[in-house]
Amino acid sequence: MEIKYSYQNNGETYVKIKVGSQNYTIRGYSRAGLRTCILIDELNLVLDMGYANDRAFSYDNKLISHGHNDHIGALHADHCARRLYNIEKEKLFVMPKQCIKPFKMIATAVSEMNCGKSGENMKIFDNLLLTNIIESESCTGSECMVNLIGSSKLCSEYYVKSIQMDHKIKSFGYIIYRKSKKLKPEYTNLKGHEIIQLKQSIGEENLTNFVFTPMLAYTGDTSIQGVISNPELLNVPFLIMECTGFSSDDKCDCCEGKHIHWDDLVENQHLFSNEKIMLFHFSQQYKSLEDISGFTNNVSKQFSNKLIYFF
Ligand SMILES: [Zn+2]
Ligand SMILES: [Zn+2]
Repeated sequence: MEIKYSYQNNGETYVKIKVGSQNYTIRGYSRAGLRTCILIDELNLVLDMGYANDRAFSYDNKLISHGHNDHIGALHADHCARRLYNIEKEKLFVMPKQCIKPFKMIATAVSEMNCGKSGENMKIFDNLLLTNIIESESCTGSECMVNLIGSSKLCSEYYVKSIQMDHKIKSFGYIIYRKSKKLKPEYTNLKGHEIIQLKQSIGEENLTNFVFTPMLAYTGDTSIQGVISNPELLNVPFLIMECTGFSSDDKCDCCEGKHIHWDDLVENQHLFSNEKIMLFHFSQQYKSLEDISGFTNNVSKQFSNKLIYFF
């Protein structure tokens, strides 16, 4: 694992990590109330667009958790940047239903300004060019997962499902799955050469099933209740989870704003079976490991070994 923090890396965090068999290269920045944007190279994926990271426009999949400005405020810039650089490739936006109309209004207004128009005769875009906008509400079940766009070809082996979280306004988390072929249970005891023979006689499609393996989950903003009430989030190999406050003075704000406080993690640490947990969305006074180290030594070694801090 390699981590570079903002003061070594142009104000952003960079994490290179392997979880299970999957490598992740993660970049971005996150601060509660200001901006969150987390990029994952291998998945061609951006989690929230609270600011326009220099390279975010070139990633084709954007999952937006909710309508707070620190999570969606720069999504329109993404659209403009892709037009500027003539990226003629489809992109995917997933966001809560209630964000879609306001987002289209903003994107239209920005486009008017960008073209030197006054907005007098502005007609809100019905569709955004080359953009597939999907409501988070429409992909909450395993049967309606959405295929992410691959980096080179038009579809990838990765799929996304949304989960409603518990926050001040409607907010969604996302789970990413990898689709792969697996031998049907009745053939798992066969030897290699028997499988090859059978494949020739009945065809691969009758030998295997497709399976969806959960790999990574992103909570967006949520209270601890939103996380611990969902077994999938507690078991996914790599969990990217918000944690806003650390000191006792932060407790009230976290409770009122429906955010996670460090003490919530201490209390529930035994529930997390994830291999790695990356915490993000720290409050503004926590800018480096030194700022939080006085609070984070009260969990088990086993739990603390799972944690990565994303500033
Ligand atoms: Zn936030
Ligand atoms: Zn929020």
